[in-house]
Amino acid sequence: MNWHQQLSLSLEQAESDHLRRSRNLLDGPQGPKVQIDGAELSNFCSNDYLGFASHPKIKKAVIDAAKEWGVGSGSSHLVCGHQGLTESFEQDFAAFVGAESALLFSTGYMANFAVLNSFVDRDALIFQDKFNHASLIDAGRLSRAGFNRYQHGDMNYLEQQLKAAGEKPTLVATDAVFSMDGDLAPLEQLSEFSMRYDALTYFDDAHGFGVLGNQGRGSLNSVGLAPTGNRLLLATLGKALGSFGAVVAGDKVFTDTLIQKARPYIYTTALPPTVVAASSAALGLMQEEDWRFQHLHSLIKIFRNSVATLGLHLMDSQTAIQPILVGDNQAALDCSNKLKDLGFLVTAIRPPTVPNGTARLRITLSAAHTEADVASLVEALKQLQKSDLL
Ligand SMILES: *Cc1c(COP(=O)(O)O)cnc(C)c1O
Repeated sequence: MNWHQQLSLSLEQAESDHLRRSRNLLDGPQGPKVQIDGAELSNFCSNDYLGFASHPKIKKAVIDAAKEWGVGSGSSHLVCGHQGLTESFEQDFAAFVGAESALLFSTGYMANFAVLNSFVDRDALIFQDKFNHASLIDAGRLSRAGFNRYQHGDMNYLEQQLKAAGEKPTLVATDAVFSMDGDLAPLEQLSEFSMRYDALTYFDDAHGFGVLGNQGRGSLNSVGLAPTGNRLLLATLGKALGSFGAVVAGDKVFTDTLIQKARPYIYTTALPPTVVAASSAALGLMQEEDWRFQHLHSLIKIFRNSVATLGLHLMDSQTAIQPILVGDNQAALDCSNKLKDLGFLVTAIRPPTVPNGTARLRITLSAAHTEADVASLVEALKQLQKSDLL
């Protein structure tokens, strides 16, 4: 078989296994309502948790930045692409989360590669929760350090391993909020281990920043911790901040080391100032408009209370991610399709993104939703139940 035949065959196979992925084409901006195929759908699957992706003040900040700073950074950070706007953003971000320092990356994917490959070498061990985001898993696989995955939340096993590591350098990486489940990692226990066993502990807070902690300062803040000592924090800016990029925050010795060593930092063009301006404006609005944060949490409560009365398998989550477990791949797809017919965009998440037999509807809530939006989603879920889809 030649390339074309082989690839066509595997695409057909994915199709018949109900695993073929396709893209929704949006005819307009991201928001609580989106236009797809000429229809307006109520959007319950974006990560725009605070409703910033199309915020008028942020759009204005982007236009102003284009006028003042231009549209392209023109170079990597270490050559001549590190602009004042970016430097200020890093400082503001660090202050906001209570870190000594912060470093801006193009994406969370790249930041995860950077962190898992800049501090440890062959003689070290990396530990990761099995439910970690694909970017952490990929980064761990590529790292030269020994790579070890533990069962979701299994702190006993992790502690044994850290003890057994003895003098070897250790790095523990975890989603702070698990992206497909919405639950929290045992943050305090991990933090304790980080001190007791001198393990560098990296918290990927892509789904906690903006959603948990004081005014959205994130998961660590929600349990009274800051990214200091052996703790490093990742916040991604494409989710709750409605922008693009990612920030690693921690003691300066770590961010300085990343500047020296992180290939995904050194060998790539610095983010455009327009994009950084969006993140900066969003960071300001998190504080100015903290009603968004309150509103999001009130919607989470309303949604959970309403779904509880339906007896659906709602997963245990206090975050904006509120998945309903379906199990079977095709059943999850059928639910998602039916919801689309009813005017709701909710994606079915299937393996390999989640373990086999745990396909789910990944419902996400946003401060841009109204209580009425949430009530109508609950009505639609009732209809799915009536038609025996859920
Ligand atoms: C989205 C996500 C990332 C990747 O961030 P990007 O900036 O989108 O590349 C990393 N980790 C987790 C847990 C995520 O959900």
